[in-house]
Amino acid sequence: MKYQIEEIRSRVDDIFDEVVEFRRELHMYPELSEQECETAKRIQSRLKQIGVEFTPDVAGHGVVGTIYGQNREKAVGIRADIDALPITEQTDFPYKSQTPGIMHACGHDIHTAILYGTAKILSEMKEQLPGSVKLFFQPSEETVGGAKQMIEEGCLAHPEVQSVIGLHVDSGIPAGAVLFTPGAMNAASCEFYVTVMGKSCHGAHPDEGIDPLIPACNMVTALQSIITRRLDPADTGLITVGQFHSGTKNNVIPGETKFSGIIRTLNLENREKLKEEIKRICHGIAVAHGATVDVEFFDSYPSLENDDQLYQWMQVAAEKALGSENIVVQSKPSLGADDFSYFCHESRGLYYMIGTGLTDGRESFSIHSEFFNPDEECIRTGILTEVVGALKILEEESKTW
Ligand SMILES: [Zn+2]
Ligand SMILES: [Zn+2]
Repeated sequence: MKYQIEEIRSRVDDIFDEVVEFRRELHMYPELSEQECETAKRIQSRLKQIGVEFTPDVAGHGVVGTIYGQNREKAVGIRADIDALPITEQTDFPYKSQTPGIMHACGHDIHTAILYGTAKILSEMKEQLPGSVKLFFQPSEETVGGAKQMIEEGCLAHPEVQSVIGLHVDSGIPAGAVLFTPGAMNAASCEFYVTVMGKSCHGAHPDEGIDPLIPACNMVTALQSIITRRLDPADTGLITVGQFHSGTKNNVIPGETKFSGIIRTLNLENREKLKEEIKRICHGIAVAHGATVDVEFFDSYPSLENDDQLYQWMQVAAEKALGSENIVVQSKPSLGADDFSYFCHESRGLYYMIGTGLTDGRESFSIHSEFFNPDEECIRTGILTEVVGALKILEEESKTW
């Protein structure tokens, strides 16, 4: 399809104030993960106003909108997370959070408003769209991973979604710019819980019992050798023990020691590998000390790996919209996690960052800060890149339909 980038830019300028106003409304009334009830209603009422069909209550309070284009069977997906954090806002914005203890400190209010703006522009162009567009207003990113549940509830079907794009704010990049990370971008994670069982006894007669603390301490240090000796040195991984608990009194050998932590890797194979190694080391050390051990794993988000083809398309589209001086490409992944990764495994996915950094010399506070102060100019960048990105993907994918 043919479109003039100038036309899209001026449409974004036309709706900018309205989208900022929607963002501020969301910002004033934040809701925690799995409780985004009013937020969902606000989204639904906006979609109704612009005539976009939607399914409410997906994965809890998620909303899936569909803009039907020429092909009603095939679509591109765009995702925005909608939940807030348990933080008391300390800024003095007139639109600061009205709910003590809850704040949109991760910018999900911005993501949501941007997706609404994108929907507004794309729905005005629907007759020209080669395929359809699905809008994933996704709950519970900060806790249980609403993306997984949305996919399980069928958001990638009817119309069928081959590719999903999503964005996240980043105060480390100046407002107006975007950052792409080709390939691996975020880690796969897995929590582990270790219980070492010994035999309790008097502290003056340790030989009469089995002290679980000694093997447990050995395990914590030995786990670090997995990273340097069992993982391919060219790969990246982390094992962090964040909790360690044992005992009740200074002169008692406890019967049990518990510790727990988290594994992070850049692919799923290494996550499995580290789990096996942790089990082996813990069992070996327990046996050496005459103790027993129980190791449990709970997989969290999978790795976020950006699709190469989508990256190429988005890069071309974003460059056209923002100019090459506003595109940053960085191949260095972060071992943080984001549940957008589920879309990367169940479809093709491309996640990118939009800069919210202030450009007037004032300090930019980062996401999850009670002082988070994004430059709302990022909303323009966000809508522009989502619109041109979706158009580019539909144009390219429709060649194969
Ligand atoms: Zn967050
Ligand atoms: Zn976030």
